[in-house]
Amino acid sequence: MHTRILLALVAGAAFGFAANQLEFSGFVITYIRPVGTAFIKLISMVVVPLVFVALLVGTASLKDIRSLGRIGIRTLLLYVSMTAIAVTIGLTLANLVEPGKGFTQETKQQLKQGAAAQADAAIAGASAAREKTSVVNLLLNIIPANPVRSLAEGQMLQVIFFAVLMGICLTLIPPERAKPVTAFFEGANEIFVKMVHVIMLIAPYGVFALVAAVVADFGLGIIWLLFKYCLTVLAGLLIYMLVVYSAILKFLARTGVRRFFRGLRPAQLVAFSSSSSAATLPVTLKCVTETLGVPQGVASFMLSVGASINMDGTALYQGVATVFIAQFYGIDLGFGQQLMVVLTATMAALGTVGIPGAGVVMLLMVLNSVGVPPEGIGIILGVDRFLDMCRTAVNVTGDSVCTMVIAAAEGQLDNNAAQKKLGESGEPLKTSALP
Ligand code: ASP
Repeated sequence: MHTRILLALVAGAAFGFAANQLEFSGFVITYIRPVGTAFIKLISMVVVPLVFVALLVGTASLKDIRSLGRIGIRTLLLYVSMTAIAVTIGLTLANLVEPGKGFTQETKQQLKQGAAAQADAAIAGASAAREKTSVVNLLLNIIPANPVRSLAEGQMLQVIFFAVLMGICLTLIPPERAKPVTAFFEGANEIFVKMVHVIMLIAPYGVFALVAAVVADFGLGIIWLLFKYCLTVLAGLLIYMLVVYSAILKFLARTGVRRFFRGLRPAQLVAFSSSSSAATLPVTLKCVTETLGVPQGVASFMLSVGASINMDGTALYQGVATVFIAQFYGIDLGFGQQLMVVLTATMAALGTVGIPGAGVVMLLMVLNSVGVPPEGIGIILGVDRFLDMCRTAVNVTGDSVCTMVIAAAEGQLDNNAAQKKLGESGEPLKTSALP
C-alpha cells in the first residue's frame, strides 16, 4: 500500500510535468483531476462520523475519566509548545538565509505586479477569520449551541466537545442502560473504520490525479523567482521533521523513529496531495491506531484536536514568510517584533483550519501584528499551493508525533504491535489495504 501510493505520487508529478511542458494541462485538469476530487470527497465524507463515533466509544471505554482532563491539558501544552518551536526555527532560518534580500529592481517589479490584486481576496477572507480568532471567541466556539448543526457543518472542535461529553455521560448512567448504546456505537465505529479501508483502495489513483493536476496547473517560472524562499521553507520543514520530531519520538515517546515514519507514510502522502489535514484525518487515524500501536481512545482525541489546532508546518512557514516579505519591502524586524511573530503565529496556527490555503489567510494576522504590508502575500501566492502540500504533510506528522508522546506518557503505546506490523527496521510486513 505504502509503495503503491508513493509510486502514484511520483508518477503523478511526472505526468503533470509532461502535461505542463507539452501543453495538455487542460486535459489533466478537466478529466483527471475529478478522480482526485472524488477521493478527497470520499475521505472527507468519513471524517465527521468517524471522529464522532470513535471519540464517543473511546471516551466511554476509558477506565478513569479523570485521565481525560490530564490528557487534555498535556495535549494543549504539547501542541502549543511544538508550534512555538516551529515558528522559532522558521524565523531563525529566514534570518540566516535572508531569502527576501538581493532581488534586482526588475525582479522586484515582476513579483510586485499583480501582487496587490491577488492579495485582495485573501485579505477579505482574513478579516472574517480574525473576528473568530480572539481568545474568548475561540474558547466559546468550542461549545456547540446546536450539536446537529456542528455535525452538519463539520465544526470539529464542537463535534469533539459533544462526543466527549456524551461519552462521559454514557459512563455515568446505569450499565444496563448504557450497554445497548455502547454496543450500537461500537458497531458503527467498525463500519466507519472499514469504510476508510475501502476508500483507501483507490488512494493511489486519487493521489496520482491530485498531484498530476497541481503540477500541470503550476506556473513553474515563479518557482525560480522565489527559489530561495521556497528552499528556506522546505529546509525548515525538513529540519523540523528529521531533527525535532525524531528526537521527540526517540526520547519522549521512546519508539522507533524509522518505524514511525514508515507507518505514517500513507497519511503523509495523502496530506501532501490533498493539502488538507482535516481531510487526511481518517487516514492518519488508521495509520496511528493500526500500524503504530496507539489505542483508538487516545488517537481519536489527540488527532482530531490536532487536525483542528496543531499546525507546526504552517507555523514554521509563517515565520519564514513574514521575514521574507519584511526583507522584500526593506523592513528590518527587531527582536521584539520577532517575538511578536512567535506569539501571533502560534495563535494563528491555533485558529487555522486544516483546509488548503488556510495558512496563507492566517499569515495576514501575523503580518499585521508587526506592521509588514499585507499585500506582500500576493508575492508568495504563486508558490503557495506547493508549499501548502509540504507543510500539510508536516502538520499531520506533528499531530501523530504528539499522539505517540501522550500515548507513551499514559502507558498506552503498544510498541510491540507496531513492531509486529512493520518489523524492527520499519519495513512493512503486511501491505494489503483490506485486513
Ligand atoms: N493546508 C494546511 C492544512 O490543512 C493548512 C495551511 O494552509 O497551512 O494543514
